Amino acid sequence: MKSVLSKLKDILFPAGRCMGCDHPRGADRDGLCSGCRAAIAGLTIPADSCNRCLSHVRRNRPCAFCAGGGMKGIDRMYAPYRYRAQVRNLIHLLKFNHEERAAGLLGSAMADALTNRDFDCIVPVPLHRLRLRDRGYNQSALLAGVVSEKTGIPVREDLLRRIRATRAQSSLKEEERAGNVENAFEADSGCAGLRILLLDDVRTSGNTARACARALREKGAAAVSLLTAALVWNHTGAED
Ligand SMILES: [Zn+2]
Ligand SMILES: [Zn+2]
Repeated sequence: MKSVLSKLKDILFPAGRCMGCDHPRGADRDGLCSGCRAAIAGLTIPADSCNRCLSHVRRNRPCAFCAGGGMKGIDRMYAPYRYRAQVRNLIHLLKFNHEERAAGLLGSAMADALTNRDFDCIVPVPLHRLRLRDRGYNQSALLAGVVSEKTGIPVREDLLRRIRATRAQSSLKEEERAGNVENAFEADSGCAGLRILLLDDVRTSGNTARACARALREKGAAAVSLLTAALVWNHTGAED
């Protein structure tokens, strides 16, 4: 949560600190300096990435992420950015500082990256109620609100619940991540027959999205695709 003082500063000096590099001056009204704006544009996902999961693929090789079951239960992936540098900073500000300008920037880019809009609803990945109580908001729901405004696809927060409190995926080793979120989600039978666009802030290992997709499909979802603000593009298991 932001202190009252820093909120007041934001109101008085809306064009202050850059969200990308933390430089105290030089940011425009959206909260970015020109250097970071250019850097973020350079972090868009290259056009020759895997057309299903958007990961980096070596020329004439199959996609390692798809071949390894990374997209199990997920039809297609949409995302504007690689999870690095300034994009990572924006996501951290969104997640831990409730920075609404970051939600606006990332959400707009996500809407633009959504080349197919044939979905019945957007389902943000839910937080457990205890985590929601501590943080005060769900960053994925904030992004979903922006994407919905731009695309007209309604948000449904009632279709998926996190029934188990889990540790932050980022705090775990790759091999611990799947077990951490397995069976952590429960879908509502209202999702039967719906084409669902699951929305999360970041895809790293993909375990969270696969666990959500499995829960939704168990209750009869007709299709599940995934939209995130960023993803680990060069998939060696770790963040690149
Ligand atoms: Zn900057
Ligand atoms: Zn792939």
